[in-house]
Amino acid sequence: TSHDRVINFGAGPSALPVPVLEEAAKGLLNFSGTGIGIAEISHRSKEFTECINNLESLIRTQLGVPHTHSILFSQGGGSGQFSAVVMNMLARYRLLHPDVKPEKITMDYVVTGSWSKKAAEEARRLGGGQVNIAVNSREFSKDGKSFDNIPAHDAFKFSRDPALIYYCENETVDGVEFSHELSEPTSFPFHLLKQGSLAPLAADYSSSFMCRPIPRLADHAIIYAGAQKNIGPAGLTVIIVRQDCIVDVDAAAKLGAAPVPITFSYKTLEESKSLYNTPSVISIYMTALVLELMKEKGGLAYYEDLNRRKAGRIYGLLKDGEEKGVFKRKVKAGSESWMNVVFEVLGDDAEKRFLEGAEHLGMKGLKGHRSVGGRRPRFIVQRDHR
Ligand code: PLP
Repeated sequence: TSHDRVINFGAGPSALPVPVLEEAAKGLLNFSGTGIGIAEISHRSKEFTECINNLESLIRTQLGVPHTHSILFSQGGGSGQFSAVVMNMLARYRLLHPDVKPEKITMDYVVTGSWSKKAAEEARRLGGGQVNIAVNSREFSKDGKSFDNIPAHDAFKFSRDPALIYYCENETVDGVEFSHELSEPTSFPFHLLKQGSLAPLAADYSSSFMCRPIPRLADHAIIYAGAQKNIGPAGLTVIIVRQDCIVDVDAAAKLGAAPVPITFSYKTLEESKSLYNTPSVISIYMTALVLELMKEKGGLAYYEDLNRRKAGRIYGLLKDGEEKGVFKRKVKAGSESWMNVVFEVLGDDAEKRFLEGAEHLGMKGLKGHRSVGGRRPRFIVQRDHR
């Protein structure tokens, strides 16, 4: 029963609402009155087609995705998109500029934490263009080596005609997020992008998807998110793509771009309505249940308000640079994540005692990411079902 459940602060996979789990348990036995369980039903059945179409419309209406953008579903997670974004955008660039040599093509990466750093490394590994680190926030950190801030706008150096500009909206491991107040110095510097620019702006929203509206959504070429952080089980990746960025990768390959694996091509996903091959049916089904519940609660306006209050409360206690008992926050003011609160527990065995005490109270998943240490509790955001 739900009484056996603990408070799971894990960043991903992370907690799901009990009503969704209970409904999904029924769906495992009998999906949508078919007498066939969701793990057993054809992804081409009428009932599943309705489910995936409903998922698309739940995302489109709640986020306000304009009709200039397609919503695609894929597998391969956020890491899969580290590669797919590069391959599809290099193909697009090749079609637009058939004669530019790879050493003259740039890809601008905004590095503000572990995940954007990883994405930049993947772009470098794939080749086909030069990676320009538009900004590296470590250079602006308190100790010169931590991802603890979003740098001021004048620190960003974009190249002239990049094949893509990439950023990670919420850095899950480091607890750093762009401000959504565009007047704030820690917002994304949209105003620095060339107006009417061809450079596609790609954003990793894996750990902040659907917790509040996305600023300047229509100005993005690609927004993607693995479901398992915020909206469902692992196995589903949501990709919102502006239609001019869905290109014929095979035509680009004939002009010298690297061939793109067929399941990674946005065009394949678009043309097959995200059913080129068997998708993760359970993830799609359960994510639709989560978004249905969110809609009932009042959609993103409701969650934005809720999450603002949660963030205000915890950061009101954990102030920048101040120690509060044994707790100390690292992330600079204005750069704090609404989703992943990273803090240190000071003292020799304080960390151990903190984790043991939390465990005793039925709170799990508080341990920080292995790469940075410290605690990383997560606000339970849109899954709030109390
Ligand atoms: N991007 C962000 C912001 C993440 O938090 C994660 C987490 O794992 C990833 C990308 C990688 O996602 P995946 O495990 O789905 O490849």
